[in-house]
Amino acid sequence: PAQRSRLGDLAVHWQLDSTNSALLRRAGGDRRDNLVCLAELQTQGRGRRGRAWHLPLGGGLAFSLLKRFECGLAGLAGLSAAVGVVLVQALADCGIDGARLKWPNDVTVADRKLAGILIELGGDALGPCHAVIGIGINLRLDPEAAVGQPWTDLATLAGGVAPSRNRLAGHLLARLLDALAVFAEHGFPAFAEAYADHDALAGRPVRVLAPGGDRTGTACGVDAGGALRIRTAEGECRVDSGEVSIRLD
Ligand code: ATP
Repeated sequence: PAQRSRLGDLAVHWQLDSTNSALLRRAGGDRRDNLVCLAELQTQGRGRRGRAWHLPLGGGLAFSLLKRFECGLAGLAGLSAAVGVVLVQALADCGIDGARLKWPNDVTVADRKLAGILIELGGDALGPCHAVIGIGINLRLDPEAAVGQPWTDLATLAGGVAPSRNRLAGHLLARLLDALAVFAEHGFPAFAEAYADHDALAGRPVRVLAPGGDRTGTACGVDAGGALRIRTAEGECRVDSGEVSIRLD
């Protein structure tokens, strides 16, 4: 079995531009692995393609981890989906059941977004590389928060009292250190079964929004590389996470 990776460093900040940005700045100079950064407030938290991630003061958990790999960027396919599995498990550790994975990078409960994952990569295609894994979890948002899409938070899901943020961060970190060691050895296939157990989209009609035009079909799970499989009128196709967004149709 893969050995648990050791924590390289953990920094907790009161305020930062973004926890991912802070670790990306350290990715080149600091050779240590498993650097972790948390912030109470992110002034420029972001999602994919530069979209804003909304995190009010005290309203969430902003967590990032820098992990180094030897397999090259090509070996990191499916990392976001694997991290999603870990996040769902850490939520369950804290009594939050029913979290599902909305491919490629969201955790939802009853189709409302609870958490997002943002992975930013650097390094060689076939050699040493790194991933900064960012996770934002809603703890308690203002009910009037203008977030841009249906959302939920841990306080609502837990009936008013959100689980301890420190406890959630602890479970998430312990599980991530284990899971990333497994991922480094076996890749996404080691997580595929657990992903399928928590897939929010499987069997449902979806619309793939892509710059080249939208497509519709039925989601039918993810492949061994973490790509989304869609059954369309023309047959089955695979969608890579790059430029697309998924909407339930
Ligand atoms: P899409 O659903 O289009 O694929 P995405 O899920 O990839 O988008 P990200 O880029 O990961 O979205 O995250 C940014 C988007 O998430 C924002 O455009 C906004 O709609 C939404 N968002 C921002 N902050 C929050 C939050 N605290 N909780 C839930 N959703 C949020």
